[in-house]
Amino acid sequence: MDCIFCKIIKGEIPSKKVYEDENVLAFHDINPRAKTHIVVIPKEHIESAAAIDAQNACAAANVFTAIPKIARELGLENYRIINNCGEGAGQTVFHIHFHLLGGDLRDF
Ligand code: AMP
Ligand code: ZN
Repeated sequence: MDCIFCKIIKGEIPSKKVYEDENVLAFHDINPRAKTHIVVIPKEHIESAAAIDAQNACAAANVFTAIPKIARELGLENYRIINNCGEGAGQTVFHIHFHLLGGDLRDF
């Protein structure tokens, strides 16, 4: 499958990892749009938030369980979590991911 995030999970494409467990990987966004910009993904390939169902919802839950740990490790007290679902909403990589943005976000 030609999925850039699956390749990052497999180590075929390098990334600056900040967190990894059995189900979740987090790494620095290559094109950061905030002081801290992390991409958090489940290791399970799910195309987008629109493809979440009762069978795979645990993948999303695993991401949301990891996010507070990642934020703590990075010293983020305030942060924003963004998911772009669908091309028209700005999704460019079709492996579900959550942008974790930190820094001073008041003007964003
Ligand atoms: P989205 O536009 O919501 O689909 O987000 C995809 C994000 O993945 C963008 O913010 C990209 O900058 C980021 N991205 C794409 N390729 C890589 C990569 N190889 N390493 C890190 N981040 C990437
Ligand atoms: Zn994938």
